[in-house]
Amino acid sequence: MKEIKKNVVVVGAGPVGLLCALQLAKNGIPVTVIEAEPELTIDLRAGTFHPPTLEMLDPIGVTDAMMEIGIQVPHWQSRDLEEGLIVEWDMSVLANDTKYPFRLHLEQHRLTPILLKMLQSYPHAEVLFSQPLLELTQTDDEVSLTVDNHSENLRLTAKWVIGADGGKSIVRKACNIEFEGYTWPERYSVMSTTFDIAPLGYADNAYMSDPIQWVAFFRMPDKAPPGLWRMTVPVDPEISDDEVLTPQYANQVYKRALNGQLLQDIPIVHQSVYRVHQRVAQQFRKHRVLLAGDSAHVNNPLGGFGLNSGIHDAMNLTEKLVQVINTDANTEILNLYERQRKSVNLQYVQDFSIKNKKQLEEKDPSIRQERFAYLRKMNSNKVLRREYLLNSSMINSIQTANLIT
Ligand SMILES: Cc1cc2nc3c(=O)[nH]c(=O)nc-3n(C[C@H](O)[C@H](O)[C@H](O)COP(=O)(O)OP(=O)(O)OC[C@H]3O[C@@H](n4cnc5c(N)ncnc54)[C@H](O)[C@@H]3O)c2cc1C
Repeated sequence: MKEIKKNVVVVGAGPVGLLCALQLAKNGIPVTVIEAEPELTIDLRAGTFHPPTLEMLDPIGVTDAMMEIGIQVPHWQSRDLEEGLIVEWDMSVLANDTKYPFRLHLEQHRLTPILLKMLQSYPHAEVLFSQPLLELTQTDDEVSLTVDNHSENLRLTAKWVIGADGGKSIVRKACNIEFEGYTWPERYSVMSTTFDIAPLGYADNAYMSDPIQWVAFFRMPDKAPPGLWRMTVPVDPEISDDEVLTPQYANQVYKRALNGQLLQDIPIVHQSVYRVHQRVAQQFRKHRVLLAGDSAHVNNPLGGFGLNSGIHDAMNLTEKLVQVINTDANTEILNLYERQRKSVNLQYVQDFSIKNKKQLEEKDPSIRQERFAYLRKMNSNKVLRREYLLNSSMINSIQTANLIT
């Protein structure tokens, strides 16, 4: 088997893997990304970027590129199917806390080409498509990766490996790291339409509670303005995937969600259905192998924390790995990556995304009313509103992580 020595190998050319590679390349470190697919993937996935993420990506020029094609969302809504608008959150109250007091909507598959193009400008960076990792083993000195490159298997050896190969991570499995947590019984369906719901009073992002079928609404940029309206809903376990993926199903869901304000059928542009998990890897580091992004943690999409926290992992991890490689810093610093990012994922991302889901699907009328009252109270003055938004915009999660030593 052909054997090639590498310095750092990143497994997976998703947003987290590409960002890790870009950060290493910027610091002069030779890096190889191996990706199973023949090209960057395009599908309906994450699309909300929170202020700390935009701040982190700002110094490397990624935020500017995202802002050129994304939609700034300074207001978002908490709604209820029966009661209508509960609260409209105005993020300008965070103006002293962040340079970016808004959410930015941009499809994940429009971020990855930005990262890839930047990465490819470094001669010491390479991205190998259609080369899935098959196996990984490690000794004290190096990691050995077996890669399927079609004509024959290839062996790469590397000093360090970052597993950014998504929720089903082969890297995590090869390291025998438990993915602790659970899978929700219901699937989620994502669908989008050109039908504009802004004239019906919807902000570009709204979460609508409903004991039968809650909805998360997002206006997404798509290829050009005015973009598309995307909706995520839970799917009744009795309904098959085939049925969920029909325009009839999507139209029925849109009509119910818009509560009598939509009578005619509307054009459906995309539909998908997927399983949702709450899981965190027991370890984010095993000697010379580090996990980041979905390979380390997965959560339901309510609150838009998944990819944001993957980007926070990438920035935290690469800052430390650069120190280890370029300045011979003690590798103990990589355990700090695990302590910071794992604890904040458990305390914050898992906890808040689960709470968000439970609140949106709450069936007890009195608990629902208590929540509406709480939201109105939090929005009633600037101090309380800021407190609420510091959590929902992930600013507090970053501050918490940075305090961990
Ligand atoms: C179906 C789906 C829908 C989602 N919808 C939402 C949403 O609506 N909102 C939200 O906030 N989040 C959503 N998420 C979560 C969000 O997309 C992830 O948090 C984000 O993609 C994480 O990025 P990543 O780079 O860690 O992993 P990924 O984006 O999964 O990238 C992993 C990469 O690794 C590659 N890979 C996998 N195995 C191998 C291998 N053996 N060898 C080489 N390469 C490999 C994959 O092809 C892929 O390119 C969704 C996730 C999924 C799976």
